[in-house]
Amino acid sequence: MRRAGLAIALCTVLAACGGGNSGVMSGDTVAVKRAPVDGPGGCGVPNAWVVSEVAGVKLSRPSIMSPDLIRSLETWVAREALPIIGRRGGGLEELTVAAHYACRTRNSRRGARLSEHAKGNAIDISSFVMRDGSRISVLNGWRGRDSRTLRRLHASACGPFGTVLGPESDRHHQDHFHFDVARHRGGAYCR
Ligand SMILES: [Zn+2]
Repeated sequence: MRRAGLAIALCTVLAACGGGNSGVMSGDTVAVKRAPVDGPGGCGVPNAWVVSEVAGVKLSRPSIMSPDLIRSLETWVAREALPIIGRRGGGLEELTVAAHYACRTRNSRRGARLSEHAKGNAIDISSFVMRDGSRISVLNGWRGRDSRTLRRLHASACGPFGTVLGPESDRHHQDHFHFDVARHRGGAYCR
């Protein structure tokens, strides 16, 4: 399995294909350029890609992402999630995507700031599916028998992503991890 250098390969391909609508396969990541997402208000993704597979791991549904998010997700899957899951259940096959692009405010509260989801910069992952069909879900596993693995996955995302939220953060994140590429003063925000 190829792991090293995936992010660099993707950068190159994204840059090369930035203006077109060509399908792209880079390393083990499958992303297709689409028309810019032009949402109402501040919503939208100027450089939008529809991603179906990242570093050889499928997404449960095609997801709209910015290049920054693709690169961060690819780095985390290749360098952290795949090794952490290891050979369990035959290895990691799929990430269950609970949310990707969505024109909404943070936690969908009226008057709150626009969510990173509204810019294609965020993805929510609710479970990890193995090749044998078994799964580790954030909702059932965080305080259950998969606690250790889920806490490692959560901690390892801090760095590749600028914001990492899980069940310890608030009541909105009991059943998924929120990852986004916002950069905060003082470093990544993870809880
Ligand atoms: Zn989220």
